[in-house]
Amino acid sequence: MARVIAVTNQKGGVGKTTTCVNLAASLAAIKRRVLLVDMDPQGNATMGSGVDKNTLKLSGYDVLTKRASAAEVVFLAEASGFKLLPANGDLTAAEVELMNEIGREHRLRLALNSVRDDYDYILIDCPPSLSLLTVNALSAADSVLIPMQCEYYALEGLAALMNTVEQIQETVNPDLEIEGLLRTMYDPRNSLTLDVSAQLSEYFGDKVYRAVIPRNVRLAEAPSYGMPALKYDRASKGAVAYLALAGEMVRRHGAKKTSEPVAV
Ligand code: ADP
Ligand code: MG
Repeated sequence: MARVIAVTNQKGGVGKTTTCVNLAASLAAIKRRVLLVDMDPQGNATMGSGVDKNTLKLSGYDVLTKRASAAEVVFLAEASGFKLLPANGDLTAAEVELMNEIGREHRLRLALNSVRDDYDYILIDCPPSLSLLTVNALSAADSVLIPMQCEYYALEGLAALMNTVEQIQETVNPDLEIEGLLRTMYDPRNSLTLDVSAQLSEYFGDKVYRAVIPRNVRLAEAPSYGMPALKYDRASKGAVAYLALAGEMVRRHGAKKTSEPVAV
């Protein structure tokens, strides 16, 4: 059954969408079955996967409002090599329509339950706010993956995010775990980056991925060609870094499995 990972951070521009698209492509490249769910009305993950958000017949809107099942909406993003549940501005309308519905926080979780067996990983791209869409993502998720830039205000933002995770655990999803923290747009020549990075490791220990994502122009260019960096420039530092992240993630899950107590 798929592990469902929400890629989240209330801060915008930290690399959530870039991480979703490139991690999805990297996991697919190492033969994992991957579904990327776009939960941001901006539809950047949809466009970045090579799908035009303006011509969608069905989208996350139809899933959240129960007009269609997840299986009906999902298709293969051919340029990227993984399955996509796409989104566009209609998601904002779904949010409004759900306002007075009972169980509105759990719509995505219920919808994904029916497709979980078809995948190894389901990644959810979240908008940069604690909206009902984000709450749906966090309710559906087993864990949160937090991309962050190592800058001065990052730790403050992280404290707010941990607060959110706690609130979600107390209300809609008691089992929500921290999957890991990912350092993005990493520049080791910057001493502030190194300071913040050291503090992160101090607080979060091995929750901080060893793989770091460098600032790399190929990662910024690839979305305008509608493909992950792995397809746009396979040898680029950005593509290689996300492949390393995928490898680390898969190894961690493998290690977790074997360390579980064996029933006798
Ligand atoms: P978010 O989804 O958190 O708002 P994005 O993934 O959209 O963040 O990234 C914000 C901007 O930074 C985008 O223009 C993206 O192309 C660029 N970007 C993200 N990660 C990198 C990176 N490692 N190197 C260079 N540019 C990046
Ligand atoms: Mg985004």
